[in-house]
Amino acid sequence: MLFSLKQIPIPEIVRYALGTALPSPIPQEFLSLAQNAAQEVLSCCQPKYHLVRYPVQPLLDSLLTGEDIRRHLSGCSDCVLLCATLGSEVDALIRRTQVTDMAKTLWLDAAASAAIEQVCDEVQLDIAQRLERSLTTRFSCGYGDLPLSAQPHFLSCLDAGRKIGLHLSPSGMLVPIKSVTAVIGILPEGAAASHSDSCSICNLRENCQLRRKGVFCGKDHQ
Ligand code: SF4
Repeated sequence: MLFSLKQIPIPEIVRYALGTALPSPIPQEFLSLAQNAAQEVLSCCQPKYHLVRYPVQPLLDSLLTGEDIRRHLSGCSDCVLLCATLGSEVDALIRRTQVTDMAKTLWLDAAASAAIEQVCDEVQLDIAQRLERSLTTRFSCGYGDLPLSAQPHFLSCLDAGRKIGLHLSPSGMLVPIKSVTAVIGILPEGAAASHSDSCSICNLRENCQLRRKGVFCGKDHQ
């Protein structure tokens, strides 16, 4: 499914570029570099996503191996498998820039990383709104003891190649590079209380209808 990405959070771009906690205040120079990179990425990205809802137990018996994902989905009877991508033009932009300007490449790469996370956050918010159920944060192959070797099976469960043009390279990298695959647990009703800390630092908290209903979208603020 096509996705319209309107903006990329500027502080997130700075955070990715610096690779550390945000300075306060953020220097104007960093804000300008991040804004320029955001504009370039927004002008060429073609975000797409696809998701499938599955019962948890059969996945734990096959695709989702390891103790960490078991803990993550504990109490969830269903989950969502999600794949999302910015498309190949963003990869091409970063590759072209790499030849002439490494500093700019760093900011473009940071903007693209923040962009794909923003796509996933917005998709996840939409899922929580439709279901009116709290979600877990996203969990991807390679986190904890869920092996990266699960990725091919993950992509085939989503039919990701046909749905959004997402493949694996011979070395096991996602192509396009600025892509995400993840599993998101659908929590039982009334299970949002333990996530109130995430909502308290979310910039959407003042007007968030979900939060008012005690529902947590699963946005990860780390
Ligand atoms: S306030 Fe909470 S539920 Fe609402 S968008 Fe932010 S993290 Fe999600």
